[in-house]
Amino acid sequence: MAAGRGARPLRVLVDMDGVLADFEGGLLRGFRASYPGEPHVELSQRRGFSAREQYRGLRQDLGVKVASVYESPGFFLGLDTIPGAIEAMQEMIQIPNTEVFICTSPLQKYEYCVQEKYLWVEKHLGPKFVERLILTRDKTIISADLLFDDKDVVKGVEPNPKWEHILVSCCHNRHLQLQPSQRRLESWADDWQAILDSKRSK
Ligand SMILES: [Mg+2]
Repeated sequence: MAAGRGARPLRVLVDMDGVLADFEGGLLRGFRASYPGEPHVELSQRRGFSAREQYRGLRQDLGVKVASVYESPGFFLGLDTIPGAIEAMQEMIQIPNTEVFICTSPLQKYEYCVQEKYLWVEKHLGPKFVERLILTRDKTIISADLLFDDKDVVKGVEPNPKWEHILVSCCHNRHLQLQPSQRRLESWADDWQAILDSKRSK
């Protein structure tokens, strides 16, 4: 069957922290600046999605200290871009029959994070992506074909989300062994276009 003009568009969700914005790099830099005398976790030693948990494991009070860094004003807006991410998004949005959205979960302590996520997207990706920014604490209820996300397990109220979760490699998940059916994107230099095409042909 030919995929003609009537073919349903492919809908792609792209996570923000760890995928477009370098949350882990910014967190380590901010932690070392704010707490220069305290022990820290090198990015190569990060394990588990939650930095707060890992720092708490290092020493009880360090969890609160590391959280204070990402809860501070200016943290999210100041994050660097992940290499290749901006170029990939600008390319992806041009692909015919493809709907791309940014899908990100704000902190529960949302005061600065929510506004700064909008500002970051406008600054690095431009106003057309501000129109495509979805903030939700539950990604499972968003309907799409693909979700590119660095979180190893994306859970919510919907037990069978419509999207296939592509695990985007990040310092905290590199060591994880995936199920045979699961797929990874090693970086934006990896062949993300092939992943989109693989969903399109089904
Ligand atoms: Mg993320």
